[in-house]
Amino acid sequence: MNRVYNFSAGPSQMSEKVLEKAASELLNYKGTGQSVMEMSHRSKEFLEVFESCRSKLIELMNIPSNYKVLFLQGGASLQFSMIPMNLLKKNKKAAVVNTGAWSKKAIKELKKIGDAEVVASSEEDTFSYIPKDYKVPEDIDYFYICENNTIYGTKYHELPDTGDIPLVADLSSCILSEPIDVSKYGVIFAGAQKNLGMAGLTLVIIREDLIEENDALPSMLSYKVQADNDSMFNTPPTYAIYMLGLVLEWIKDEFGSLENLEKVNQKKANMIYDVLDNSEFYRGTVVKEDRSLMNIPFVTISKELDEKFIAEAKEQGMVNLKGHRSVGGMRASVYNAMSVEGVEKLVSFMKDFEERNK
Ligand code: PMP
Repeated sequence: MNRVYNFSAGPSQMSEKVLEKAASELLNYKGTGQSVMEMSHRSKEFLEVFESCRSKLIELMNIPSNYKVLFLQGGASLQFSMIPMNLLKKNKKAAVVNTGAWSKKAIKELKKIGDAEVVASSEEDTFSYIPKDYKVPEDIDYFYICENNTIYGTKYHELPDTGDIPLVADLSSCILSEPIDVSKYGVIFAGAQKNLGMAGLTLVIIREDLIEENDALPSMLSYKVQADNDSMFNTPPTYAIYMLGLVLEWIKDEFGSLENLEKVNQKKANMIYDVLDNSEFYRGTVVKEDRSLMNIPFVTISKELDEKFIAEAKEQGMVNLKGHRSVGGMRASVYNAMSVEGVEKLVSFMKDFEERNK
């Protein structure tokens, strides 16, 4: 079987163990004579899949009991709208830190619903760092960050202290990569197609007191309606929820805890950063203290060599290393399912490529 090492930013590589388990159950899930894909979302069998997935997530992430876990659709992008629709209340205003494309999109949608105060931005420096020098305004309903910027490879290693103001964070590209303290957030959301499995599912973890009735909202876009109906106001993305369950089972079996998984992620990222830091040929594009463990953008000494790097890596079975069009160069996305062997292969190719082209 010719599987590649897929360094895509998402949808991204999944563990073969997860894919094999899904394949083994594809035609006949646990003797039911049907695939999970074919099951009614109200059936006893699917409700078990759903409950088991949710409880595994609560356990692994240590989600406190005053938080609701919602399995929604529309991608992380729909949350850019749902969050202001549901959370702008008294002040009709939110504050945002602009760390690049994903925060910009969130700001654009927020501005259609209420006021956005951009308290800081690293745009003048091609979003190569996380701004930290600002005051959290008082007249806002929530404070918004993109915790790991997939495109620029920046990560908050310390959360802003927002006091009583709810912190809302886009964790699309870092969820489950490390343990987090959920109680520090008002809302966490993430598209599933990176560390949570497959596209089609959006995870929202929201503190219960932030869920309020608002009859003016379309039902599908109301957290209250979704929470009251236990994410089953309409047909949820059943197969993606099943896949998340398999991913969570795999994390538990393979790593035991998010603490252990973080150590492996640290090791993988450090292997690549070490090459970048000890080379005159490569350059990482993010300041050291804000580097992501999941998305690692870098360039060589020329655009021509960047292209050659990407093409040769592909020939050797390492695909999707091209950087986002707004940054150029390369980007290695090394989510949970990227093995240490995959990173070893990349690192050894990087060293060899440097020797041959410097
Ligand atoms: N936020 C971040 C940080 C992302 O990386 C992405 C997608 N790569 C999105 C939001 C948008 O997610 P979706 O495509 O699920 O709407």
